[in-house]
Amino acid sequence: MYTVLAGGVGAARFLRGLTAAVPADEVVAIVNVGDDLTRLGLRICPDLDSITYWLGGVVHPAQQWGRADERFTVAEELARFGHEPWFTLGDRDLAVHLHRTMRLREGAPLSVVSGEVARAFGVDVRLLPATDDEVATRITTADGRDLHFQEYWVRERAAPEVAHVRLAGAEDARPAPGVVEALVDADAILIAPSNPVVSIDTILAVPGIAEAVRTSPAPVVGVSPIIGGEVVRGMAHRLLPVVGAEVSAAGVAHHYGALLDGWVIDQQDAELRDVVAAAGPRCVATDTMMDDPAVAAALARTCLRLAEEVRR
Ligand code: GDP
Ligand code: CA
Repeated sequence: MYTVLAGGVGAARFLRGLTAAVPADEVVAIVNVGDDLTRLGLRICPDLDSITYWLGGVVHPAQQWGRADERFTVAEELARFGHEPWFTLGDRDLAVHLHRTMRLREGAPLSVVSGEVARAFGVDVRLLPATDDEVATRITTADGRDLHFQEYWVRERAAPEVAHVRLAGAEDARPAPGVVEALVDADAILIAPSNPVVSIDTILAVPGIAEAVRTSPAPVVGVSPIIGGEVVRGMAHRLLPVVGAEVSAAGVAHHYGALLDGWVIDQQDAELRDVVAAAGPRCVATDTMMDDPAVAAALARTCLRLAEEVRR
């Protein structure tokens, strides 16, 4: 079993590669739920849905999230009632949120519902939310406001200076059923090239998950989300300094610290190999830009080879 700590799009692109390298039913993704929000009474899980749409082959190809061939009839009608349209809700996407919300109201845990949704899209990877409990990534801005992650990222386009990031509700949250087992029993634990602060750290913030990663006998190998000192997409370059990390492939490795046995960086950053290795993890440089599925598959194989090499 290969267990992947996963945010949204970066993780989805990586999982597409991994499932070309190993059977999908041997892959478990432990997915960030700090981005989840409630709009119009509907529970929305952006990272779970991005992964489902990618692996189900229905993602919007240019946008890289949401559905291909989407329409916005409902959103247009909602404008009539003065609903603020800052969070995009397409008609096809809404069907998922409607179904999920109905199932949650019936009492089904998110981990069960996420499995049902994934299967409906023909996804064989096991998708587990980090927790079934309701948590939220909250951003404290330098000017003292407390925003939900999506208010910061989508509504305010990551413009505000950030002072602090936290996963609200983490203290009382428990790992979803199967999460700890998927880490402890894994043949390899892979950290996808996801946002370290608002995707990976928010998974690790659920009590018990970081400990399971640390105590698992499985080797832990991560992929840098930073290439040549820049993000491929998203706002990690704005958030890494907030947690005292340098915006570089070495800075992210240093941030994960003793968690890592192996670290895969882009070939553009090959000169950082010794800096990373000096701090602990074995480091390999390769092509990590996953626009091409064949590159994503090769990257996954490199990760699995490195995991074999560092197996403790
Ligand atoms: P989000 O939840 O949709 O923001 O996606 P993630 O949490 O997975 O984080 C996006 C991160 O993935 C960003 O920091 C990107 O730089 C990184 N990323 C996206 N695509 C790639 C890729 O092809 N290669 C690498 N190395 N990183 C990527
Ligand atoms: Ca996300």
